Amino acid sequence: MRVVLLGTAAGGGLPQWNCACALCTAARDGRLPSRTRECAAITGNGRDWWLLNTSPDLRVQLTSTPALWPDQGARSIALRGVLLTDGEAHHVAGLAELCGTAGLKVYAPPPVRAALGPARAALDRYTPWEWADSLADEGFVLAGGLVVTAHPVGARIPPYVPARAPAPPGPWATAYRVEDLASGGVLVYAPCVGDPSPALDDLCAGADCVLLDGAVFPAPDTEAADRRTPAHPDVAQATSDPLPGTGPDDPRATLARPPGPRRIPTRLSHTSPLLDPRSPAHARLTGLGTEVLPDGTELEL
Ligand SMILES: [Zn+2]
Repeated sequence: MRVVLLGTAAGGGLPQWNCACALCTAARDGRLPSRTRECAAITGNGRDWWLLNTSPDLRVQLTSTPALWPDQGARSIALRGVLLTDGEAHHVAGLAELCGTAGLKVYAPPPVRAALGPARAALDRYTPWEWADSLADEGFVLAGGLVVTAHPVGARIPPYVPARAPAPPGPWATAYRVEDLASGGVLVYAPCVGDPSPALDDLCAGADCVLLDGAVFPAPDTEAADRRTPAHPDVAQATSDPLPGTGPDDPRATLARPPGPRRIPTRLSHTSPLLDPRSPAHARLTGLGTEVLPDGTELEL
């Protein structure tokens, strides 16, 4: 399985357009690499590619990734579809970049599919896509030989969804476990988990590599406050993500403890100390094996 980190930043990117914090200033000055909004691409056979979320920066990400360039004439594509983990605006916005692309299949948890109803109708007027329940049938197989299961990791309702709007049962945020049948490699992709949990810890323990919400890693209060913004306008507790299996032990200790899977934070806030090579948090976690990788990194599992 090949995995390309198309983007690794949270909703503001790095630098965030309206921010002059130390890290955004360093990115503008070229002292830190800039980062686009978080999403990734995977393939099991090098021909059939699937997107994990779609960021607002998707066009730039696709045009800067040679593996995803067309090679068979006008409008040929290597993309087969999209796996949405949740309904966050910066995870679904890139769908608009793909409108009119024939033959795509989009997986999402039921509440997210429902919340995207008007957008789905608009996109389907260009070219109808197949919209699938990511939690149905205990998993699904993607073209290219990848077996996928979705796992609930949170209940964060996107701010654009009215809190009292009817929604089908199911989690608003999921993680994906992707296994390559040929190589046996396992990726866990969990870019939007809110708070850590033993259930997530168990999921990660069986993987070769995990791409995790950067906010899961230990961070000072400023980072925790930043990831809670914006709060849902209707429901105060929507800023706290209740997780199945949450227990008294803090799984972050395991996330940072070798040996274990490769641990790569993604969806990093522009204020995250993990982006600052001089910060104690960066030194501690990279010293334990956590990898802070730039956009465009390709992994082989
Ligand atoms: Zn900033």
